[in-house]
Amino acid sequence: VPLANVRNFSIVAHVDHGKSTLADRLLEITEAIPPGGRKQYLDRLPVERARGITVKAQSVSLLHADERTGETYLLNLIDTPGHADFSFEVSRSLAACQGALLLVDAAQGIQAQTIATFFLAMERDLAIVPVANKIDSVNADVEGTGEQLESVFGIDAKELVPISAKVGTNVDAVLGAIIDRVPAPGGDASVNAKLRALMLDCHYDSYRGAVASVSVVDGVVKIGDKVRSMRTGQTSEVLELGLMTPEPLRVRELTAGRVGYVITSQRDVRAAKIGDTLVLERDYQKSLSAVSTDGSDVLTPLNAFREAKPMVFQGLFPQTGDDYEKLKAAVERLTLNDPSVTTQTETSAALGPGFRCGFLGLLHADVFHQRLKEEFGAEVIATAPTVPYRVVYPGESSAVSVSSPMQLDVERLSQSHGVPRVEGSDPVGISEPMVDATIVCKNEHVGKIVELCVDRRGTQLEHTHMSNSAGTGSGDRVLLRYRLPMGEVATDFSDELKSRTSGYATFDYEESGYQQSDIVRLDVLINGQSVDALAGLIHRDKAQRSGKAWVTRLKEILPRQLFEVKIQAAVGQKVLARESISAYKKDVLANYYAMDKSRKQKLLNKQKKGKKYMKSVGSVEIPNEAFAGLLSKG
Ligand code: GDP
Ligand code: MG
Repeated sequence: VPLANVRNFSIVAHVDHGKSTLADRLLEITEAIPPGGRKQYLDRLPVERARGITVKAQSVSLLHADERTGETYLLNLIDTPGHADFSFEVSRSLAACQGALLLVDAAQGIQAQTIATFFLAMERDLAIVPVANKIDSVNADVEGTGEQLESVFGIDAKELVPISAKVGTNVDAVLGAIIDRVPAPGGDASVNAKLRALMLDCHYDSYRGAVASVSVVDGVVKIGDKVRSMRTGQTSEVLELGLMTPEPLRVRELTAGRVGYVITSQRDVRAAKIGDTLVLERDYQKSLSAVSTDGSDVLTPLNAFREAKPMVFQGLFPQTGDDYEKLKAAVERLTLNDPSVTTQTETSAALGPGFRCGFLGLLHADVFHQRLKEEFGAEVIATAPTVPYRVVYPGESSAVSVSSPMQLDVERLSQSHGVPRVEGSDPVGISEPMVDATIVCKNEHVGKIVELCVDRRGTQLEHTHMSNSAGTGSGDRVLLRYRLPMGEVATDFSDELKSRTSGYATFDYEESGYQQSDIVRLDVLINGQSVDALAGLIHRDKAQRSGKAWVTRLKEILPRQLFEVKIQAAVGQKVLARESISAYKKDVLANYYAMDKSRKQKLLNKQKKGKKYMKSVGSVEIPNEAFAGLLSKG
């Protein structure tokens, strides 16, 4: 297939609008899979199938004989996740594409992630093919959806392709639109072209090592070639090449326009930088030695996509102390498969050795925990999520990143008196990461949402009615945009939003820099002793409320002891909330002494089993569940 007959495209849409279902139909029409097989074929991970969501982008190469022209086309389709946490997957998928199918559920109309993904595609100058899905549904409003597309994005409603991905109605027209409206890749496929391939993704296969998915932009890569990664300078030999059809199909070479996979002698995925450019070592050496006058020997890296930035950090500790080695092995293996997770060792006085992991969002963290358990049998205690703050200490000229309450040196921060300000430095203090959130909701819910955003320290950026004269089905929608602290959004914001709007509001966000803020460390003390893994970073105005919620919750969770247990929440020396758990009453103990031997033994065994999932601080036992999710209850 010549380059002119190649089409690279992604399917982007809000969650549940039917991307994976449409991918199934496209796979069937092109006879890549037999009809009526497994649903959401490209969602392969157990966690994807269990949750019914796409987590990893998947590419598949399809051959399509166009009946109108008699020509054969190579279609590289990339199915993408819809959830905000995985927008990084979307943006790197789009980097390999010239077009995007923008799918909209015609019964729901434009939603928050429709907007977010549209702008990602527009930023990259992709040809956008709007598709109205679910026209078989009784609530479908194709006309209204077209009007929304016109008013929100300026897309001509006449371009809209109405389909039912589920039933298969009009899916042919989607293929036609891709061929007609998406341009062929602009790479160089001539014999003299120098190889340049973009590393899209990488996963670890226990038999074959690192398997990289690549988009070949210029030239050709063959088995046996010596390749160099431009960013790391590492070289390796190409051992295997293939296309996903969707099963892996081995080939001898990948030419310009192909999206496929590469296995090299470099087995370590961490060495394979996503977004990197692969070139041939001999071209590279030539470019070093050649005295080129016309610049034709210069190798420039491909325009990559933005790197994934972790936004939510959590401490991960083994459920039982002696499982650290097991957890370590599991975390290492799984991060091979998901390089967007960052890890660092962290030791807590209360929980022992563990890891500080950075995730793209809470759902991403949740998926990681589940995969640790399902794929590696490692159960973890995850501490409350924290966003990455930037801290400038007195006497320092630049900020350091603090993504764990344990890392914040409160004393040092407070010693600003007398320390001269470093010339030209950032102001001393803490800055918090901000996000710009997009919320799409019904008009009747605006009040409740504004209230929520104000409570979360947000400022309004936009409030627009999405015009829709039909006013049925998807009509009556409002688009709100707010700037909010990431820390206020990362935890339970989307749950709150759903519960206040009966699930009707949708939301997406993108990062938007840092802002100085009055952030304090809220410590939890048990019988006067501060428990590091229970501390949290929080805005001063919220410390009182959260402190109260935390001690109340701990009081419910902590078991009674033989002595009184005092629970306090404090900022510095100032105690903001306190509770206490009274000791066992004498008669409980008396009962215990009166108990017969076998019952006593049973009780002791039960206690011992329970202890495995307890940590002790001083002489107080704390159940594992106490460490999780304190912040989200703030
Ligand atoms: P994704 O999150 O965008 O990948 O969406 P999925 O493809 O997983 O589909 C979400 C849900 O919508 C599934 O229950 C599908 O069966 C359903 N769905 C997808 N396309 C259609 C359609 O054309 N009509 C109807 N009625 N339901 C559909
Ligand atoms: Mg999907």
